[in-house]
Formats: sequence, C-alpha cells, structure tokens
Amino acid sequence: MEQSKKKISVIGSGIGGLAIAVRLAVKGHEVQVFESNCYPGGKADEFSVSGFRFDKGPSLLTMPEKIDELFYLAGKNPKDYFSYSSINESCRYFYDDGVIIRGFTDAKLFSEEIFKISNIPKKDTIEYLRKNAFIFKTTNHLFLEKSLHKLKTYFSVKVFLSALKIPWLNLFSSMDRINSKKFFDKKIVQIFNRFATYNGSDPYLAPAVLNSISNLEFNRGAFFADKGMSTIPKSLYKLALELGVKFNFNSFVDQIKVSNGKIEGLAIKDAFIAADIVVCNTDIYFVYNKLLAKQFRLNYKKDQPRSSSAIIFYWGINKVFKQLQIHNILFSKNYKEEFECIRGGNEIYSDPTVYINITSKRIKSDAPKQSENWFVMINVPHNSNQDWDKLILKSRKEIISKINRVLNCNIEDNILFERVVDPRNIETDTHSFKGALYGTSSNTRMSAFFRHPNFSKNIKGLYFCGGSVHPGGG
Ligand SMILES: Cc1cc2nc3c(=O)[nH]c(=O)nc-3n(C[C@H](O)[C@H](O)[C@H](O)COP(=O)(O)OP(=O)(O)OC[C@H]3O[C@@H](n4cnc5c(N)ncnc54)[C@H](O)[C@@H]3O)c2cc1C
Repeated sequence: MEQSKKKISVIGSGIGGLAIAVRLAVKGHEVQVFESNCYPGGKADEFSVSGFRFDKGPSLLTMPEKIDELFYLAGKNPKDYFSYSSINESCRYFYDDGVIIRGFTDAKLFSEEIFKISNIPKKDTIEYLRKNAFIFKTTNHLFLEKSLHKLKTYFSVKVFLSALKIPWLNLFSSMDRINSKKFFDKKIVQIFNRFATYNGSDPYLAPAVLNSISNLEFNRGAFFADKGMSTIPKSLYKLALELGVKFNFNSFVDQIKVSNGKIEGLAIKDAFIAADIVVCNTDIYFVYNKLLAKQFRLNYKKDQPRSSSAIIFYWGINKVFKQLQIHNILFSKNYKEEFECIRGGNEIYSDPTVYINITSKRIKSDAPKQSENWFVMINVPHNSNQDWDKLILKSRKEIISKINRVLNCNIEDNILFERVVDPRNIETDTHSFKGALYGTSSNTRMSAFFRHPNFSKNIKGLYFCGGSVHPGGG
C-alpha cells in the first residue's frame, strides 16, 4: 500500500477488521468501518442473562503479544486497554474410563503428568514438544507472517534456511500418523491430535506440520482474558475510535464497486461511499459471490473444503464443579470415528468430544454465587442444510449423558438457563459461509497455499483480512 493518505473502507468489524483499522489509522489514513451488526467484534461477541455472562465464540487465547503489538504501534500501553494472565493448566482432559490428564503449560510438569498416567518417558514428551517448537519456529515466519502469494517471499534468506530443514518438518505425513508413531498411548495421541481442531481441521488428514500448534500452549503458554474474550474486540474498538476511525453499524455492504480494474468504493443500499482502498473482513466466499460483480467470480477457487463448525450450549449452572477448571475436554472414545462422522457431513457423532469452558472459575462476576457459566461446545460439520433442530435434540441428550457419566452427576438438574447456537446462527450472525468457524479447512498439504491471499491480484486497491483468508483463523 502506498504511504500517502488514503480513504479506506473496511467491511466488517471482527477482530481482523478492527486490527487492520488500527494499523491503517496509525499510518495516518482516513479509515471508516462498515459493520452489518449493531456492535463490533463479530464472532468474539458476548451476552449476559440472569446474572451469567458468556463469551459467544473464541475462548482460548494464545499469542496475546499480537494484540499488544497493536497498542504499541499506536504508542499506547496495552495494559490500559486489555489485560490478560497466563494459566498454568491450558486444559483438563477427561476420559470415559475415569482417567484425568492435566494439560500443564510447563513442559516439564506436563511430561511428568504423562509419565504418571501412561509411563511414557518424560524425555520423550519433552523431545516431542521441542520438535514442535522447532517446526513452529522454522515455519512461522513463512506461514503466519509472510504472504505465500508473493514471489519475493520465497527469495528471502529466512525462507531459504527453512527450506533446508524440510526433511525435519513432517510435511508429508498427517498429524495423527506422527503422533501415533511417537506415543503408544492412545490417550496421549488424542491430546496432541486435538490441536487440529484449533483451526477446524481433521488430525487424520491435516499435515503434521500443524502439530506445531501445540507448541503455542506447551512452550509459549496459554492465556486468559481477565475480563473475558470479548474485551479483545472491545479494547481494539476503543483504540480505533481514539485513532479517529469512524464506525458505521447496521450498515450491510451490498456491493464493492470497481472501475477499470480499480476500487471505486462501496454501495450500501442506494448510497455510494467512495474509497481508494477497500479491506474486506468478510468471509471471502461472499466477497466473490455477493459483493463483487459476476465477472470477478472466476478469480475465486470455489471448491475448497470449509472448516468444521460447532453447536454450542450456553448453560447457567447452579453448582460449582470442583473437578473442572477453565478449559475442559471430555474426550470421545473413538476419535477417528468422530472425525469420520464430521467428514461425512450429515450426522453428529453419538459420543462427541465435549469442550466445557467456564470463565467464572476466574471471573467471579460471570456467574452468581455458587454457580458457573458453562460454554459447552462440540465440533460438527459445517452447514449444508442438515436438520439441525433434530441433530441438536439428539446431541443434547448424548452430551448430557456423557457429562453425567464422566463427571458423575445429573447435570440436567443444574441447568438454570440455556441458549443454543448452531452453524445456521453462526452463518447468519457473522456472515460466515456455511457457518464454518475458520473459513476453509487445513486438511491438505496445499490448503495454506490455496487459501486466498490478503490482496486481490486483479483489482487494484482491494485487500482482505480475517479468518477466511491467509493465514486463516484459530
Ligand atoms: C464458537 C466459536 C469458537 C471459536 N473458538 C476460537 C478459539 O478458541 N480461539 C480462536 O483463536 N478462535 C476461535 N474462533 C474463531 C475466531 O472467533 C475468529 O477467527 C476471530 O474472531 C476472527 O474473526 P474475523 O476477523 O475473521 O471476523 P468475524 O468475527 O467473522 O467478523 C466478521 C464481521 O464482518 C461483518 N460482515 C460480514 N459481511 C458484511 C457485510 N457485507 N457488510 C458489513 N459487515 C459485514 C460481520 O457481521 C462480522 O461482524 C471461534 C469461533 C467461533 C464461532
């Protein structure tokens, strides 16, 4: 982007849209954000009912320094806007046979925990985590920090040095294959396979290089937003306002106007808003299939598989469960079958892995006394017009019976309040195609390269950010 002052319109105020608005305003551009909802934050919204507060979407925070960076760029102290703390147990894993494994973020403690449960030598776990850290360090600048779609990326010294390490990067295996080779205990394999779900992928298909995701929690740490995840977009919104960004809520953008291969502006109903540059934080599918004129559709590769979606039950619970912590996983008995079912696309697995997030463990005001706010989520296929009402009824029963079995309780008696979100709501509330949580999946070796770049090759002045474009969400 040229450095002279430009008129820039950002479509969407998800975390991606807010972050780019801040970056551009810091550079002195005139930035306006158009958001179809009446609030900023997109998927990272929150709601409160009867004394319970819930984060609607993301719950686990890694790499918080990426958020801090935005405040530093603006010459501000991040702590004045957004505070977070590290957690020493990133997740507690429960198995049907009663085994519990505590996912300590400290590699040494975690290796001791694994040794206690499965006799896997501590040095094997430490070595595995070190290897994942190495893969992350070697590939991070290419896959997360650079464009994969610019030739100059491939001519940098760093990329050349990374290329020399290709034989050690597990590029040609699946996550599960590497994890199963490394650990003989299925429970431990399941823990490491689960990191595929952090970007909506399938560990039996996703390339093993994604095992490096575990490095974020076990080597760099897991974090907790002290006042809830929704304070990420809230604090960025505040910063953007201070930097002079103008926000237009209830403003659904209908069209991106292009003339002679160059951005002209936006159309919202009958109004035209002129712009030199447009940045889309919308799902890339809709950019090509709704916002741009038909002639540009050929520039979009349509057949990329979407990431998985989710059904979430937000429950106000009138009891405190001491055996649970902030992040909890109740694993399915057969992970492979569960993913085959998600891949199949029509059904929900009968014994799904259940994720329970309870922020009131730390934020006391998130639930009334002696109560907890449960965010109960299962991974499901993206929306392709399944009978969700029927599937929700069925999965609710199965989730409840799993919770009762594993936690030895009768949870139905403790549910004071319930709200349910499914792929249809995710699609309509955040305009995410098919309700996919993370845009396209990362299930093949080439997924990262096929994901849409952050710029348009055909339209001057058109850029993209957010979970559906490079480097992807999660
Ligand atoms: C249930 C759930 C759990 C998740 N868990 C995690 C997690 O634990 N960790 C993690 O890192 N990530 C998680 N994610 C993903 C994470 O929420 C997103 O990657 C993140 O919020 C960034 O979103 P985004 O910037 O792509 O924009 P989005 O949040 O998708 O926002 C896009 C915005 O654009 C607006 N918009 C779209 N089209 C238009 C238009 N035409 N005109 C005007 N406005 C428009 C939408 O209204 C929306 O506000 C989760 C997501 C969900 C739904």
